[in-house]
Amino acid sequence: MDDEGWPIGIEIWQGRLRLIIFDDINREDPQIIDLENARETARTRCNWCGKEMETDSIKWKGLLFCSEACLDACRAAQ
Ligand SMILES: [Zn+2]
Repeated sequence: MDDEGWPIGIEIWQGRLRLIIFDDINREDPQIIDLENARETARTRCNWCGKEMETDSIKWKGLLFCSEACLDACRAAQ
């Protein structure tokens, strides 16, 4: 409706936080952005030492490691 409402909304849907953006007034469907990956708990951490990681992580058997040392330590513990 004209002069009413907001083009942006934020809601919790099925326990997940999401952002709703009506970026086109002529379209009924909004853009929905799931913010679950923006949670602090979603931060990528080394599976061995727990250190937060940037992009250059080492992947092994679906696990992530911050360094060769952590990878070796984890392998040795298998
Ligand atoms: Zn590590």
